Amino acid sequence: MNIHEYQAKQLLKGYGCPVSDGVAVLKAEDAKAAAEQLPGPLWVVKAQIHAGGRGKGKFKEADAGEKGGVRLAFSAEEAAALTQQMLGKTLVTHQTGPAGKQVNRIYIEAGSDISRELYLALLVDRSTSRISVVCSTEGGMDIEEVAASTPEKILTITIDPATGYMPFHGRRVAFALGLDANQTKQMVGLLGKLYQAFVEKDMEMLEINPLIVMEDGNLKLLDAKLGFDGNAIYRHKDVAALRDETEEDPKELEASKFDLNYIALDGEIGCMVNGAGLAMATMDIIKLYGAEPANFLDVGGGATKEKVTEAFKIITSDPNVKGILVNIFGGIMRCDIIADGVIAAVKEVGLQVPLVVRLEGTNVELGKEIIKNSGLNVIAADNLADGAQKIVKAVKG
Ligand code: GDP
Ligand code: MG
Repeated sequence: MNIHEYQAKQLLKGYGCPVSDGVAVLKAEDAKAAAEQLPGPLWVVKAQIHAGGRGKGKFKEADAGEKGGVRLAFSAEEAAALTQQMLGKTLVTHQTGPAGKQVNRIYIEAGSDISRELYLALLVDRSTSRISVVCSTEGGMDIEEVAASTPEKILTITIDPATGYMPFHGRRVAFALGLDANQTKQMVGLLGKLYQAFVEKDMEMLEINPLIVMEDGNLKLLDAKLGFDGNAIYRHKDVAALRDETEEDPKELEASKFDLNYIALDGEIGCMVNGAGLAMATMDIIKLYGAEPANFLDVGGGATKEKVTEAFKIITSDPNVKGILVNIFGGIMRCDIIADGVIAAVKEVGLQVPLVVRLEGTNVELGKEIIKNSGLNVIAADNLADGAQKIVKAVKG
């Protein structure tokens, strides 16, 4: 789960990290009063969307102005005018995809005088099973670009969980970033706080780009992107409260309400499967026979007819879906329940694309009988390979 920049800064401020003062606004009317709470003479007006690259982004609407989603203002009036310009508009960055994201909140921040822009991130490194710290002198830019063209400018260190964060980690980072003695001291403290926040809040990613050295020589987090482990959110009610549902894929959001494990993908074949392992195998075999899955969907072990109906509706609501493969192994789940659910869903939402159903396991005969007697145009399959071949053939001809 991701949160907005202003929320991330608030959270990290709670750990003692240096951030600017700022006010988030949802309505243009509130912008002037918000800006007037800040000292000036410089304000930064920042579009809040769950995507990076806002500064270099472009708005789709012409009346949102030429510049991107991060703009400098030199009076409270100008900050208010910029807020008005950006709110409700669609910002396209290299991370949003061509559709862009609608800007529903603006963060107005006290502006900082920048001397240097650095990069600092923490992430869970699966290859070492440790938390890694990534830093670079090339902050404020697209770090993927830096990694591709000048990889020597990126330093990665890993932190042994047996010791946790130690001051020498901070000194190594400070040295790599070319900080002076006073800044090194700040970095040793700052990295410790970031590490503590990362571990305590079960984060997957923490990215500060840029971390700045200000004109007065002090460090500050100028941008902050946090991602949390969705499986651990139940432990953090404070983090869960920061969720912004308008930023999420509507299909994934709907699925989460019904406790379905659904992830939208780019392919053309919708999959409804029970069990994560079988769902992965189903995606693999669809690819093997030359097509791409439109989603990952695990309806779970104890799905009800309602849940199956909901899952089917979510799959058919995706305009990219050109065919559906239902692949169920009835262990705890009964095949007749799946059959009932599929039929109920088709009756409710109709069926515009070919549907292949492969059922196996508990009550399989009953399930097949129900589908056969339903009069629906369903292609039956006997096993996984047969099912995958049939749906790929039905879609690709
Ligand atoms: P991003 O484009 O989504 O990564 O948004 P950032 O928050 O990183 O802002 C983009 C760029 O705007 C930064 O790299 C800075 O160069 C600039 N910027 C942001 N805040 C300030 C500020 O307080 N003062 C100045 N002078 N520039 C800023
Ligand atoms: Mg940034």
